[in-house]
Amino acid sequence: MTASVTAAEQPTPPAEEHAKAPLRRLLEYARPHTGVLVFGGVLTFAGGLTGLAQPLVAKLVIDALSDGASLTRPLLLLGALVVGGAVLTAIGMYVLERTAQSIVLAARSQLVARLLRLRVAEVDRLKPGDLVSRVTADTTLLRSVATSSISQAVSASLLLLGGLVLMAVMDLVLFGVTIAVLLGLAVVMGVVMPRINRATIAGQAAIGEMGSLLERAFGAFRTVKANGAEAAETRRLDAAALTAWRKGVDVAGWTALSGSVAGLAVNLAFLTVLGVGGARVAADSLEISSLIAFLLLLFYLIEPISGLVQAATEVQGGLAAIHRIDEVGTLRREHTEDADTDADTDAHEGKEAHGGENGDRDADGSGAAAAARRAVAGNGAAPRGGGPVSVAFDGVGFRYTPDLPPVHRGVTFEAPAGGLTALVGPSGAGKTTVFSLLERFYDATSGRVLVDGADVRDWPLAALRSAIAYVEQDAPVLDGTLRENLLLGAPDADDDAIAEVVRRARLGDLTERLPDGVDSLVGHRGTTISGGERQRVAIARALLRRPRLLLMDEATSQLDAANEAALKQVMLDAARETSVMVVAHRLSTVVRADRIVVLDAGAVRAVGTHAELVAADELYSDLAASQFLTADA
Ligand code: ADP
Ligand code: MG
Repeated sequence: MTASVTAAEQPTPPAEEHAKAPLRRLLEYARPHTGVLVFGGVLTFAGGLTGLAQPLVAKLVIDALSDGASLTRPLLLLGALVVGGAVLTAIGMYVLERTAQSIVLAARSQLVARLLRLRVAEVDRLKPGDLVSRVTADTTLLRSVATSSISQAVSASLLLLGGLVLMAVMDLVLFGVTIAVLLGLAVVMGVVMPRINRATIAGQAAIGEMGSLLERAFGAFRTVKANGAEAAETRRLDAAALTAWRKGVDVAGWTALSGSVAGLAVNLAFLTVLGVGGARVAADSLEISSLIAFLLLLFYLIEPISGLVQAATEVQGGLAAIHRIDEVGTLRREHTEDADTDADTDAHEGKEAHGGENGDRDADGSGAAAAARRAVAGNGAAPRGGGPVSVAFDGVGFRYTPDLPPVHRGVTFEAPAGGLTALVGPSGAGKTTVFSLLERFYDATSGRVLVDGADVRDWPLAALRSAIAYVEQDAPVLDGTLRENLLLGAPDADDDAIAEVVRRARLGDLTERLPDGVDSLVGHRGTTISGGERQRVAIARALLRRPRLLLMDEATSQLDAANEAALKQVMLDAARETSVMVVAHRLSTVVRADRIVVLDAGAVRAVGTHAELVAADELYSDLAASQFLTADA
């Protein structure tokens, strides 16, 4: 069964071979379990053989009856066959189904691990609710295939093959009649199966659509309620549910048809064999016991035939699942960040890619590490782990997708290691995008983004991200406890370190108010705490990581004056030991920055201190005059 799968030496079977036929992909999931599958298959097959042997023994019984011989031996033999068959089948089924569960487990773990390594750009494109359905609903389809269909198909085909061989040996004419009917059945199945496949794919897509609609509604639940949009959102969900229903009914129809056609075919074979065989018995060219044995054989083949049809039907579900899993592209390397983690796949030109799969940038003597040593030499900090890093954009051009206009059109600026750099500019200027490029959520379309003197594409991805802490614009909080949220980026931090950042980020009031302190649940998306508290949680989380570069995106926008003043102090303190870049919309923050980068329409207009820019840059002095208190600076 696995012989057709040419094993490229991939450690994980379904790597990037997404173009492969779905059936081959399905079998690849089974390949690591070939040995156990064969063992289980042989047991089930042996169990089935005992069933096949029963008509032969029945013939002995009939012969003994007509000869007046003793019935004891043939009956004992029959009994042994029945019991032995039951035991063999039970063990075989257990082994197979257990293996099938392992196959599903492996497929799920692999899919889940890959999903979280998807590139940000991929996730922008996909709907989370639909992704969830691909991990849950679609792997369930894979499960039903793996649990029953593989074993069923294998043992049923073996039994069918064995039965057909016996038939051919018994009587070639009756064998020919049977084969003709079975071929007719195969033609019908060839027409029905692709339809089941397509209907299943469409049905699963509708379930995915329901997932994304639910995500849409619950993701903005208060907005839906406040706008009285429950009924409209419900209608959208109903429409998707109706589509799923329709496709499910289609599948049921085709499945019922294939099942009844299979039954019909066997009965047709029965009748034809009876007619043709009866005529030949009458003509004395066939023994009556041979005809009866042949008919019994046919009777025993009903199960494998309908089993095969059923397995083929279920396999359509599995093929549909494979289709949807591959459609997400989660199994394709170029859609995940795996390629960035490996040294040899670095595509951009003129750069030596670095190893560093363990993130130890000092182990190799090339670009990033050497630059890191140069950069930190001045302030005497140890190169490992510690000191602040410089940031430079060198003619950076960037667009989110090829069909969108560029967001950056040649952004160039430098921020030396240490100190506070403010990024200001009107909404939509591309400030948040600067941070996204530093984190390598996306790669620049042209030009270079340098951290610590090295192109970010030359940094081992994990090392780059562990050097940076990022407080995002909307300060997301994960479902869980406050402690879990703080430890997200620094899982090893101890209680003292947590207490320290809680104090520095002014979260003390919150932890005192919550029933279980830092171990209190902050709810789905932090719904049980205020926007300002969420921002402070995000800041505390960032501080706990002891970053070499701290990025803060309008992180104090929702804070009251007292907290904002305190956190500005935190920011300035942080800027003494690390590099801090802040997208700022309060003049008071900007005034104290060591340098200010003014972005406008995807390009840097001016760089300087507050005093320099007020004198030299019109946009900046206008912004300053308005106190930067625009809704989204
Ligand atoms: P700023 O932070 O200065 O307000 P951003 O960097 O967030 O600006 O966005 C710059 C431009 O890029 C905006 O026009 C915005 O609509 C667009 N943009 C931001 N994020 C994405 C994205 N993920 N996909 C497509 N366009 C985006
Ligand atoms: Mg922004």
